[in-house]
Amino acid sequence: MTERELAGAIRTNPGASVVFTGAGMSTDSGLPDFRSKDGLWKNVDPMELATASAMRGDYDRFHAFYSHRFEQMRDAHPNDGHRILSDWERRGFVDCIVTQNVDGLHAAAGSKKIYELHGSVGAVRCMTCGLPATQDDFIARTPCASCGGRLRPGVVLFGEGLPEDDLSASWDAAENAQVFLVLGSSLQVSPANQLPQIAKRAGALLAICNRDATPLDHIADYRTGDGIADFLKRLDALL
Ligand code: ZN
Repeated sequence: MTERELAGAIRTNPGASVVFTGAGMSTDSGLPDFRSKDGLWKNVDPMELATASAMRGDYDRFHAFYSHRFEQMRDAHPNDGHRILSDWERRGFVDCIVTQNVDGLHAAAGSKKIYELHGSVGAVRCMTCGLPATQDDFIARTPCASCGGRLRPGVVLFGEGLPEDDLSASWDAAENAQVFLVLGSSLQVSPANQLPQIAKRAGALLAICNRDATPLDHIADYRTGDGIADFLKRLDALL
């Protein structure tokens, strides 16, 4: 289908577009893909440190790694793509955003209904009792105010389950979507690779905007490798 037809489907199905975003959504905001290696940590595999076992067995390195991530994210701001999605929600086109990102940039851009499948860096809590704390507390290694335990970021680590409420809400949203828009995810891992298929099976149009090919390109009704902000600006002009 053409971009004009895709925009028409978004416009004529108010509140029935579900947007799924991954790391590519935030690269325009200067955040490197989680798996890309930069600076201080270029010789370290994040897959080794962003784990529940590193948090319990190697807290010093775990803490240093996430402190560095926090500082990167602190300097990042929503880009035009985040702003357009927030505007679409306000105008009644978008039902919700399901995201793999933990950077909080959708919320910073003003989006309200967001399901964060991998948690959020902002949601620091105590490892032991779960009491919420701040990012500054985490970076300063301030002990939990209630039990004295160590603090952890509110992200889902490798080895941990996804948040069940957000997951089941995302499932429902995918089943009820008329348009399912994938932005900046390579759709390699579960449930990222399942949600678009659920939506498609339930009758939604599937559009994928991702720089690299994805395993679901063959079932997409629309597919582009263009930059996300540019793609959304074009669609926005057609709405
Ligand atoms: Zn505690």
